[in-house]
Amino acid sequence: MVERLRDHYQIRDEKVLEAMRSIPRHAFVPEALQGRAYGDHALPISGSQTISQPYIVARMTELLEINSESKVLEIGAGSGYQTAVLAKVAGQVYSIERIASLAREAQDRIRQLNIYNATVKCFDGTLGWAANAPYDAILVAAGGPGIPEPLVAQLKVDGRLVVPVGESRESQRLVRIIKTATGYKEEDHGGCAFVPLIGQHGWST
Ligand code: SAH
Repeated sequence: MVERLRDHYQIRDEKVLEAMRSIPRHAFVPEALQGRAYGDHALPISGSQTISQPYIVARMTELLEINSESKVLEIGAGSGYQTAVLAKVAGQVYSIERIASLAREAQDRIRQLNIYNATVKCFDGTLGWAANAPYDAILVAAGGPGIPEPLVAQLKVDGRLVVPVGESRESQRLVRIIKTATGYKEEDHGGCAFVPLIGQHGWST
């Protein structure tokens, strides 16, 4: 899996590749699908949600440009796999998941791997997590109709927000926002397909 990320998908950040090497992806997928855990695809998890394709996890992590000093916010913990990868690279990770059972399971899996710098809570992540703001980087793992404003507000100046944005619920563009002193810069990093971001600053259902 890691060779494919490096050679085919051109992931260059060694910290990201090392994190992907060290986190056992099979521990985050349903038992019946564990044989496919290291394939080049997303997989279903409970609650009609998905664990993202390894390439997407690596690419989004790389776009955050984080290191062991970084404080990171994640929206959409899902299985907790992306959370665990972020925790290997960053200093501290705060993650939000709107489905309570997923949030609980994600936190349990992370603890079982002896990762202590990631916290998963259940609420609407489109509001951000103001108590721990500002963040060096924010990753949104579900696709909404626009950029949730509270997330931009909770970024440090020069901080990075990576978020799938699309007019339809089925497909999005992967957008990176870099906050500036007066506003933000926006970059397009190509097409993608995430499950819907549901909340006050996302889709309504
Ligand atoms: N990176 C995850 C992918 C999870 S799929 C993984 O590797 O497993 C996206 C997740 O976003 C789903 O679990 C969904 O429930 C969650 N989600 C959608 N809208 C949300 C919101 N407003 N706040 C928090 N989580 C949300």
